[in-house]
Amino acid sequence: MRFPRLFAPDAGAVAGIVMVAGMVMVASGCGPSTTSSGPFENGTVRVATAFYPIEEIVRAVGGAEVSVVDLVPPGESAHDYEPTPQQVTDLQSADVVFYLGSGFQPSVEKAIASLPSGVRKIDLLASVPLIATSPQLAGTDGQTEGEVLGDGNDPHVWLSPKNMQLMVAAVQESLTEVPGIDAAAVATGATNYVATLSSLDTTFSTGLASCASRVIVTSHRAFGYLAAAYDLTQLAISGISPAEEPSAKTLEAVAKAARADKVTTIFFENNLPADLSRTIAREIGADTAVLDPVETLSSDQITLHATYASVMEQNLAALVKGLGCR
Ligand SMILES: [Zn+2]
Repeated sequence: MRFPRLFAPDAGAVAGIVMVAGMVMVASGCGPSTTSSGPFENGTVRVATAFYPIEEIVRAVGGAEVSVVDLVPPGESAHDYEPTPQQVTDLQSADVVFYLGSGFQPSVEKAIASLPSGVRKIDLLASVPLIATSPQLAGTDGQTEGEVLGDGNDPHVWLSPKNMQLMVAAVQESLTEVPGIDAAAVATGATNYVATLSSLDTTFSTGLASCASRVIVTSHRAFGYLAAAYDLTQLAISGISPAEEPSAKTLEAVAKAARADKVTTIFFENNLPADLSRTIAREIGADTAVLDPVETLSSDQITLHATYASVMEQNLAALVKGLGCR
């Protein structure tokens, strides 16, 4: 039996949740399964994650206690990713799989659903307050774009640092329940990462407190939670998945709305062709800037040791400039 040490909370309310979960005692005895470890390191809790932000949470919280395999390779679209047959096999030797449900990654979700009951499957959407996918603009063609997922909720929860903190607490709770894991080490990992996220949240609140415009025109409808957290309004050119192509009618409607809102910057993302954003920007005489949905890291970002927080800080800099914040 291990007795977790207590750590001074230093990151506000969420740290409280982290502390409580951290105090759950872990029974001694059988550790993680002793079968072949597949792509995982031996002697650690084997965790598979469905895409990048969850991978970062699990690595930060689990530290040396976990061996993490993420399904989506660098630069690939998280939404459309189809696990390889080898990955589906590898998933079977995981102790825990963390993902987001509701149709965010249909192929990944299907592969996870087919796993044996010995693999714990944790849908982290259950740990955050969900908001409905923002409605279509008047004058666009409805259901063909901005596809509403299974339950009508927006899955892009990680784009609010507040939600990230809630997911950290949920990951900590789940990992702490794995027999043999060092719950104290997991609690420390969670507390430290929550401090980073809490500080990021404060930086966003301060940076976006006073802006000339609060309308963000984005290439794909990924920024609903970020908008909700910092009192912005999202106007999306494309749908909930970046692969959804908008029609000429939608582009016209977005341009019209953007013009009416006196938008001066159209945001687009690195992994998508910028043509649509540029078309609208040209039409209304606006600039373009990158807003990264942090669904995946590119190989370049990995080389530069980018993290969720570092990418979000770049997003904030782009927002502050593009929205004329002081
Ligand atoms: Zn997305």
